Amino acid sequence: FFIALEGGDGAGKSTQAEALAEWIRAKGHEVVVTREPGATPVGKRLRSILLDVSSAGLSHRAEALLYAADRAEHVDTVVRPALERGAVVISDRYIDSSVAYQGAGRDLSPTEVARINRWATGGLVPHLTCLLDVAPEAARERFTEAPDRLESEPAEFHARVRSGFLTLAAADPGRYLVVDAAQEPEAVTTVIRHRLDTVLPL
Ligand code: C5P
Repeated sequence: FFIALEGGDGAGKSTQAEALAEWIRAKGHEVVVTREPGATPVGKRLRSILLDVSSAGLSHRAEALLYAADRAEHVDTVVRPALERGAVVISDRYIDSSVAYQGAGRDLSPTEVARINRWATGGLVPHLTCLLDVAPEAARERFTEAPDRLESEPAEFHARVRSGFLTLAAADPGRYLVVDAAQEPEAVTTVIRHRLDTVLPL
């Protein structure tokens, strides 16, 4: 079973990934918590290229392809093998992050970004995608470290990313759960657990 957590920076995805993993493990399942970009050795190198301030002028198409390369390696070496042995995989970001950031956020076509990512992943789609939706201004207050290259983007960029995610969710309500991530983390976990209770084969 494959779960993706999506949302803007500071929405609390990694906190939710850990909380859900603990709950699913307690039911006796193997859970693999993973993330994009940067879950594999090559992915870590791609992540540092993508997030370093020295990549400021990176072409938008090159950026989209580097994220897709990270994802291809991630799916081939981490996600698919785990799913094949029956583990539950929770990924902090997946294809929809590219559609929202490189598509809606930049000037690339979201449809084309989705298409290259379908190819990169061999068409692997999550069973459930949870969008942790929060206003970028509220999320920004949660940053504890110095902002990386993307977090330093202007507010309009993050607003486009947010609406990009919401558009994806509206188009596919069967796969998507949109959660108000301005709530306390425990409340967010409860909402996701309720949805998982209805779909997770436990
Ligand atoms: O989620 P995480 O903080 O690891 O993401 C690292 C950075 O990469 C974030 O600033 C995020 O906005 C950016 N990112 C992106 N496009 C993606 C995935 C992440 O711009 N497809």
